[in-house]
Amino acid sequence: MKRRPRIAIAGAGVAGALLAGLLKDHAGLDVIVYERVGEDDHSQSGTGLNVGPNALKALAASSPYLERSIRADSFAWARWTVALVDGTNLMDLDLARVADNPGIRIRWSQLYRLLRAHAGPAIRYRRSIAGAVPHESGVDLSIVDATSGAEIGRDTVDLLVVAEGRFSPLRDSLFGPMATNYVGAATFRVLIDGIADPAACPIGDYGQWFNGPNRILAFQVPGNAVYGSGSFPLGIDAKLTDDLKQPDFLRALYTPACGTLCPGVAFMVEHIVRNTGRIHWARLQEGELVYAHPSRRVLALGDAAHPMVPTLGQGATQAVEDACATARLIRDALRDARPLAEIPDAVAALRTARVQTCMEFSRQASDTMLAGSDPVVGTRWKTQPEFLARLSNLYRDVAFQ
Ligand SMILES: Cc1cc2nc3c(=O)[nH]c(=O)nc-3n(C[C@H](O)[C@H](O)[C@H](O)COP(=O)(O)OP(=O)(O)OC[C@H]3O[C@@H](n4cnc5c(N)ncnc54)[C@H](O)[C@@H]3O)c2cc1C
Repeated sequence: MKRRPRIAIAGAGVAGALLAGLLKDHAGLDVIVYERVGEDDHSQSGTGLNVGPNALKALAASSPYLERSIRADSFAWARWTVALVDGTNLMDLDLARVADNPGIRIRWSQLYRLLRAHAGPAIRYRRSIAGAVPHESGVDLSIVDATSGAEIGRDTVDLLVVAEGRFSPLRDSLFGPMATNYVGAATFRVLIDGIADPAACPIGDYGQWFNGPNRILAFQVPGNAVYGSGSFPLGIDAKLTDDLKQPDFLRALYTPACGTLCPGVAFMVEHIVRNTGRIHWARLQEGELVYAHPSRRVLALGDAAHPMVPTLGQGATQAVEDACATARLIRDALRDARPLAEIPDAVAALRTARVQTCMEFSRQASDTMLAGSDPVVGTRWKTQPEFLARLSNLYRDVAFQ
């Protein structure tokens, strides 16, 4: 008897867990996801995400149920404001001008929880794919216990989806090490929990505040919390040394010559300097875009396929688009009795130009975070018709509905 087509997914993050959930009810298909952490491990719980309107539009077309559940556990992202740290307004964009629906603001841990619950038993926790050998008729896999590294099984699948995120060992071993381009800024993030009275909190929907090129970004997320991220210029060859992480240095970054901070920035600076021990640090960086392996048996999705700078909040957003597009292509192929070996090239054909445009747009929109930039001039560009038209394409043109 002919066996059912079989797909393995490496990583139950945004792209992997969503793809598995979108395919779980397909009777003619086996899908298994290998996730290195345990079911209750939310290593990214100290983070919030703003997920773009385009992800929600893609999700509503692919799984109205999941879209409703995610909206129910998040806040709407409906405005984008930009100001100077003293409160001088530079931009106040109602996203309804450039999108068909709002985006969301959500805790990262909650997004993972919802996506993983939707995928259900397809996910095998504390497991990794340590080796993958593509060949003419499939991919041979070595499955290991993620803690001990001991091999616990072997499998052969028709299609391997690599969705291990930005630092994916499997992607590197199959596609070759990915070159990283640093973009010239350091970033940090912190989740401020326990806000006593969210209605009185000076942080609400998505806002950015500038002191020269030094930027604070913040928004409320459900559960009486505020997610905040700061950035400041850092040369591409410079090191992110400890002196750059000290409270006094951070306070000075966001304090203008006049010394006056608007209430939102004063709130953020106080919490940032109080929480320097809990802050997560990174450097603004991006990698190359690669979806399809030449073997036609391996597909990369999400950050493993296109690590981008987070400036427009499109990392998880494009991972959602990837999963929705891939699920539809897989369903279509199975319906038409076409082989899964067509999928990597079909995903690349459908997605490459859009994601390339998104990566480029995100890099260009990082202009105000770089050394020597003027936030007033840089933000003025973001209020002009050309920028708004590009934003509208990004938020509306979800091509695979
Ligand atoms: C500070 C910061 C802020 C961000 N803000 C936003 C934002 O506001 N909006 C937005 O859209 N995006 C944002 N992003 C980007 C977003 O988080 C990522 O683009 C998104 O999570 C990518 O999804 P993914 O499925 O590709 O990878 P991930 O969500 O990273 O998932 C990868 C999964 O693979 C698992 N894994 C890794 N290695 C292995 C292995 N060897 N074996 C098995 N499993 C493995 C991981 O445990 C994880 O579950 C931000 C990123 C950062 C760092």
